[in-house]
Amino acid sequence: MKFSSRIRVRTWIYFILLTVGILATLWIFQIAFLSSYYQQERTDNVRMVADIIEEGIREDNIGIKIQLTAVRNNVCAVVYNSQGELLYQVDSVGLGCYLTQRVIENPRNVSDYIQRAEESKTKDFVLPLENSQLNQSMLVYGRAVTIDFGNFYIFLNATLEPLDSTVDILKNQYIYVTLIVFFLSTLIALLISGRMAKPIIQMNRSAQKLAEGNYKVKFEKSEFGEITELAETLNYATAELAKMDELRKDLIANVSHDIKTPLTMIKAYTEMIRDLSGDNPKKREEHLDVILTEVNHLDRLVNDMTKLSQFQSKVLELNVKEFDIVDLLKQTVNVMQGLIQQEAIDVEIMSYLKVIVKGDEVKIGQVLYNFINNAVKHIGEDKKIILQLLVDEGIVRVEVIDHGDGISEEDIPYIWDRYYKVDKHYQRQTAGTGLGLAIASAVLTQHKAKFGVNSELGKGSTFWFELPLVKVVENEE
Ligand code: ADP
Repeated sequence: MKFSSRIRVRTWIYFILLTVGILATLWIFQIAFLSSYYQQERTDNVRMVADIIEEGIREDNIGIKIQLTAVRNNVCAVVYNSQGELLYQVDSVGLGCYLTQRVIENPRNVSDYIQRAEESKTKDFVLPLENSQLNQSMLVYGRAVTIDFGNFYIFLNATLEPLDSTVDILKNQYIYVTLIVFFLSTLIALLISGRMAKPIIQMNRSAQKLAEGNYKVKFEKSEFGEITELAETLNYATAELAKMDELRKDLIANVSHDIKTPLTMIKAYTEMIRDLSGDNPKKREEHLDVILTEVNHLDRLVNDMTKLSQFQSKVLELNVKEFDIVDLLKQTVNVMQGLIQQEAIDVEIMSYLKVIVKGDEVKIGQVLYNFINNAVKHIGEDKKIILQLLVDEGIVRVEVIDHGDGISEEDIPYIWDRYYKVDKHYQRQTAGTGLGLAIASAVLTQHKAKFGVNSELGKGSTFWFELPLVKVVENEE
């Protein structure tokens, strides 16, 4: 990893950039522009005093208020009429007042100023001056006021404080501020980046362990929401990976067991035919039958495995259509007629005439086949299977009920897993592959349908699922 791309370095660089930005702005406003700001402010000040004096003239009431304002703003003021006669004077600057010192004493200056105000478009002017006697900057402001009873001229003089020493102080302070700010931002940058980097470094370590196949790793939460979310996602992924790994191990164990058993049988019987029964047609026939049964079982097993993995990886798209589920129930029972009759089972369908639902007919047919087939395998003494359709607010609930073995509470959550067999020592009699319910669950999950089982050991089971209802036909139309 490049050094400059580390969180610590990056964060520090960003902080320093921010700091430089802030300091530069401060420099520009506080130091470089200070005097022009000050002048602007002072000019605004003087204009404000001129406004008040103008108001006084217009109302013919130049009184104490004007005097106070002038004093408060450190401004001296004179008002002339158009004949150049001095009408009013406030001097709060004293000796320093340029207007009283220079202008009044030299009437030519007065007419000069009057002319200047008259000639200006805005009828006023600002004149920065340098009082060489006092070595002080100042500004003179003039304004022409025209009212019914004549023209008046307001002149104001304000001193500008020398800013050099202030700027010097600020510059000095600025150096300290710069040092302190750089120090603080480095400190904060290190703190923040440390806090951000730590959980990521930890996560990286955990992820490496995970990559090595340790599914027990935990990704720690952090004070940052996003990192906590990432940790949660990774924890979830770890759990899923662990499950997959478990499943893979189970699968290999079960598959090899399930394939190995028939293979051993096939091998043994083939050898028997070769060595013993080859010439004995009756025995040979028997042995070939066993081989055929085993091959059939293997075939079914491989088929189921392919189907399941196709469903689970969602390779097969659902072909959702409207169809009559009552009809599908009847068809499924029909397909199994041989088995049902052989076991003398009574299948009862409790439903309306037609119930139109939405779903993939072929795949739902497979689910029904599996449920009914299981019910046959676990049939109770009453030899009865009930297929029931319950209709409720846009939903049809399909139930396959038997009164047979039932499933214990501990087993119920697992029967949908592949290769899960309630009886672990269960000898293959009806050639179950242990994949039927896993396939049913994959199909129903793909339909986003609700499904489940209610069962009690020794009393029987009700396997059910729900599909969206389109309509119900109760009687022949
Ligand atoms: P199998 O090929 O073994 O029947 P399934 O996936 O169809 O595989 O069923 C898984 C397990 O669930 C079965 O081994 C059985 O123990 C249990 N099971 C399924 N249906 C029933 C039922 N109707 N009654 C009792 N147990 C059942």
